[in-house]
Amino acid sequence: MDYHVVVVGGGPAGASVARQAALKGLKVLLIEKQKIPRSKACAGLVSKKALDELDYPLPEDLTARKIKGVKLIDSRLNEYTRKTPRVIGRTVNRKDFDSYLVEKAREAGAELWDDCRFINLKEEKNGLVVETSHGRIVSSFLVGADGVYSQVAKKAGIRSKWNKWWDLGFTLYTDIPCQGDEERIDPEIAELYCVSYPFSLGWLFHHGSHLNIGIGTAKMGEKKLFPLFKEWMDRLSRHKNLKITDYKIKGYYLPAGGIKRPVYKGKAYLAGDAAGFVDSFSGEGIYFALKSGRYLAEEIYRGMEENPEDIGARYTRRCYEDFLKEFRLSLATAVILGKKKIPFQFVRYNPFLVDHIANIMENTGGYSLMLKDISLKFPGILSRYARGVLRTNNNI
Ligand SMILES: Cc1cc2nc3c(=O)[nH]c(=O)nc-3n(C[C@H](O)[C@H](O)[C@H](O)COP(=O)(O)OP(=O)(O)OC[C@H]3O[C@@H](n4cnc5c(N)ncnc54)[C@H](O)[C@@H]3O)c2cc1C
Repeated sequence: MDYHVVVVGGGPAGASVARQAALKGLKVLLIEKQKIPRSKACAGLVSKKALDELDYPLPEDLTARKIKGVKLIDSRLNEYTRKTPRVIGRTVNRKDFDSYLVEKAREAGAELWDDCRFINLKEEKNGLVVETSHGRIVSSFLVGADGVYSQVAKKAGIRSKWNKWWDLGFTLYTDIPCQGDEERIDPEIAELYCVSYPFSLGWLFHHGSHLNIGIGTAKMGEKKLFPLFKEWMDRLSRHKNLKITDYKIKGYYLPAGGIKRPVYKGKAYLAGDAAGFVDSFSGEGIYFALKSGRYLAEEIYRGMEENPEDIGARYTRRCYEDFLKEFRLSLATAVILGKKKIPFQFVRYNPFLVDHIANIMENTGGYSLMLKDISLKFPGILSRYARGVLRTNNNI
């Protein structure tokens, strides 16, 4: 046996499994098809709960901006802001952030082969034979942390493809260089937009040198998203007085959490995006990648001490007990809020609702607490909304 664990993918999930397994004394190989540091399509907002999942502090120089509040912007561009004295997230450059995580996995003892592609896998008497562009390796366990289009999921027979209707989200985004005179943009606030399109959410995050602006929606709406994105960018640049002349639109898929899917077969397991662990409303995936990676390393270690046959079932149970309810409620929130003007206007007259988004980022709350709070306070929310609408109409 060459290794106890071979991990495919040098993103947050792969780096997390590799570090946590190596810290437990396992012999780990991390393979990544790109040369590290590698780029990753992302808005680059790492929530406080994701930062807390790291067992080391993130160096200050990897932080572009500290985020201390959330702003919700409705379809008429009215803004509702909640600022906190606390840091609820940080914007980062994913190239540097991910390569730091990989470095921490190496520091713990994991071996790294970058520029090395996973090709196939075969189960033989002496273990799993993992075929890579650098040759064959024999391992006890294989981890697919290889992102949304996981080859490990395919080759291990866990999932041949995603369902085109509900399994995937689609995002368009761009990076706009800062000119230093951006108006109405607080660099410490994460901005979330109501976009007139089903299941969608827009964002604007400050990265110091640039603004990351994007829209996410369900995959089925991907074709119509291009003209909508351009229209939205025009409106946004007028509203913010941004001098945007030309910008490059980038498109990318991400999985939608909220559906229970198989995440292992035999001794091959999936973590992070490969397993479908992404919050459908916010698009947050880094936290779930790090956490599922840690859970998997812990279960592999425990299985080696006890019964390896139990690893997959235990890992599945732990992830779904922790993530599934919130994923389902985030999916419901995406369905309720996407395109809808009224729920955003509820926020207008009940700005405390924005606090829940900050609480989700900090892990001091969640979608279940948000929806419970809304149902308990619903009569008040509705009457404030009705009074507010009446007042507005009377003023017209
Ligand atoms: C536009 C966009 C914006 C986002 N914004 C945010 C955000 O602001 N905050 C947040 O928390 N999440 C965000 N996400 C989600 C987040 O990026 C992902 O959930 C996160 O990167 C998942 O980490 P991962 O390690 O599972 O996968 P990845 O980061 O995708 O890493 C997978 C790695 O596997 C490698 N790989 C693939 N195939 C092979 C192979 N055959 N052999 C070897 N290596 C292979 C890839 O090169 C890649 O490096 C965003 C996603 C998108 C698309």
